Order: sequence, then C-alpha cells, then structure tokens
Amino acid sequence: MYDRTYNFSAGPATMPVEVLEEIRDEMLNYRGSGMCVMEMSHRSKVFQEIYDNAEADLRKLMNIPDNYKVLFIQGGATLQFSMIPMNLMKNGVADYIVTGSWSKKAFTEAKKFGDVKCIATSEDRNYSYIPDVTDLPIRDNADYVYICENETIHGTTYQTLPNTKGKILVSDQSSMFLSKPCNVSDYGVIYGGVQKNIGPAGMAVVIIREDLIREDLDPKTPVYLRYDTHAGAGSMYNTPNCWAIYVCGKVFKYLLDRGGLEAMNQRNVEKAKVLYDFLDSSKMFKGTVDKEVRSLMNVPFVTESKDLDAEVVAYTKKAGFDNLKGHKSVGGLRASIYNAMPKEGVVALVECLKKFEAERG
Ligand SMILES: *Cc1c(COP(=O)(O)O)cnc(C)c1O
Repeated sequence: MYDRTYNFSAGPATMPVEVLEEIRDEMLNYRGSGMCVMEMSHRSKVFQEIYDNAEADLRKLMNIPDNYKVLFIQGGATLQFSMIPMNLMKNGVADYIVTGSWSKKAFTEAKKFGDVKCIATSEDRNYSYIPDVTDLPIRDNADYVYICENETIHGTTYQTLPNTKGKILVSDQSSMFLSKPCNVSDYGVIYGGVQKNIGPAGMAVVIIREDLIREDLDPKTPVYLRYDTHAGAGSMYNTPNCWAIYVCGKVFKYLLDRGGLEAMNQRNVEKAKVLYDFLDSSKMFKGTVDKEVRSLMNVPFVTESKDLDAEVVAYTKKAGFDNLKGHKSVGGLRASIYNAMPKEGVVALVECLKKFEAERG
C-alpha cells in the first residue's frame, strides 16, 4: 500500500514497516509530550525514559549479564576500529583474525596503536571461507583476540567462535546483530553499527564487560574515545544520537514482541534457505562462499560474467528489487536479507531470478 520496493541493501537497510508506521504516528507529538523526539532535550525525563526502555529491552533480548555495560556511541562501527585498541590494549598487543574487508579494516587501524598481528586469514581464497580457529597461535600477552563475526561484503559467518585460549574475544557483529541468540558472556566486547540489522545510521551499540573499561589510558586519549567517558555518563557525555536510540528502541521492542532472537533465527534460517536452495540448483547463478560458513544475512552470488551480472541487476531493479549489486570490491550480486526482510521478499526475488534464467538460459 506504500508502493515500497524490496530493498536488499547491505546498509542502511530495510526496516520493519510496523516500526516506520509507529514513528510516523509519533512524529509530530510523541505521546503527549507536544514535540517530536528529534526536538527533545536529551536531558528531559521523557527522553531518559526512551533511553532506559531501549537499554532494558536490548538487555532482555540478548540476555545481557549485569556485569556488562551497554553503550550507545556515535561514529558508527568504524570508530570502534580505533576505540577498541585505544581502550583495551594494556600490554599493547592484540591478535586479529582477518576474514574479509571489515576485519581487515579493523586490523589495519589497530596496527597504529600497538603490536598487532594477523593470526589467521582466509585472504588466499578471496575470503570465501573461515579459517580453522580451534588452535590459533595466540600470544601469551595478547590483550584480546578480534573477529568480524559476519563479513557483510564477503558473506561468511562463524559457525563456532575461536578458541581464544583464555583471552578476551572482541566481535564486530554489525551485520548479524540480533539475528540469532548470542551468549554474551563468551565475549569481552560485542559491538556493531546499527544501520544493518537494527536502525538508522550513525551509531554503534557497544556491549562491554565492566572490568575492561579502564581509566589508566594514555592521558592524550581524546575524551570522546574513552569507554569510561561513555560508561560514566550513561552514554550521554555529550548529546547522543537521540533519534537513532529512539528508533533502535522501537526495533528492540518489535523483536521482543515477535518471540525474540530464537524466533528471529528460525525465520532467518528459513528465509536464507529459499535463496541458497535456488543458488545450489541454478545453472546460471552460484554462491561465492563455502557452504558451511554461508551467512544468513548477506548472500553474495555471481553469474558467469560481469556483463550478465549487470544485466541481472538492471532486470531485478525494474521488477521492484533494489540494491542487489555486489560490493565494488567483490562484484557480482549480493542480497542482504536482514531481520526486517520478509520471507515473501526472498521468495519473490527467487521467482524473478528464475524467470531471468528461463528467458536467458
Ligand atoms: C557496515 C559495517 C561496518 C562499518 O559501519 P559504519 O557504521 O559505516 O562505520 C563495520 N563492520 C561491519 C561488519 C559492517 O558491516
């Protein structure tokens, strides 16, 4: 009824229509406050309530233990590439697993801050798999082990977490946040930009174990880049991204109302299966990563040629499916099918690809 397209963008990405409708209804006067959330003081009682509910609902969804802080920090996921080494490197040593563009970026940034080593990578086969992480050469004095748990561009995801040999695990979950249950106490830090699977761009959620929030940092560390600054001020050291917090809070509630993360996982497994089954049976299209590590969120695939890939992108766009072009570093096509993408969208996409294949095959 809104004439919306099926939007397969990797991020910013599609949002649940029900959430957008609620926001629309509250736009000019949020629940009798007489104003829109974007006009509100972040120090007001009404906004504090929005904030507290968002945090409480996220804690409920992920079952976050009390000894973890939840922080809402601006600068997206990218700022965390710097904040993590700046805040967590006590010994100045960290070990990274590089499985795609995003972990590589984080690794490259961290190198500025200390002795940072890549201890495993899948670069040799264009990041199409996850290396064996059961027995890694983790250094005794490593402050943490870093992973990107779901590589948004390459479309791989960890099936089991690395054996960190007692070291802290730091995970970038940007493109899989809230897509399935997560045992928070397996990690020291979980973080993600929210524009993939949750809300509007420009903010990261950081879930950090309290004892990792240090005060004895290099005194030159910019105040905004210290976790203790944000933790000590309830994520309101300065004006937070109020709008993103509000919208994320709505999505947290939406997910709780629909059965939480178990239910999401079940839906996501079913939904991805529709597309992967098609790719496995098609003669024209094929997936680009090893089957056992295929992402449920980002599905890259190719035809035999770049020209044909481009034709498919144009064909699908005309049929009402948007943003299927693969990332420029990989080419081909990519369907991002986050929580908010309905199964009908994936079914309809597969029908469209089948039709293309029948016409051209
Ligand atoms: C998108 C993405 C980022 C970068 O997020 P920004 O909010 O744009 O900084 C980092 N990591 C992963 C896994 C991503 O998908």
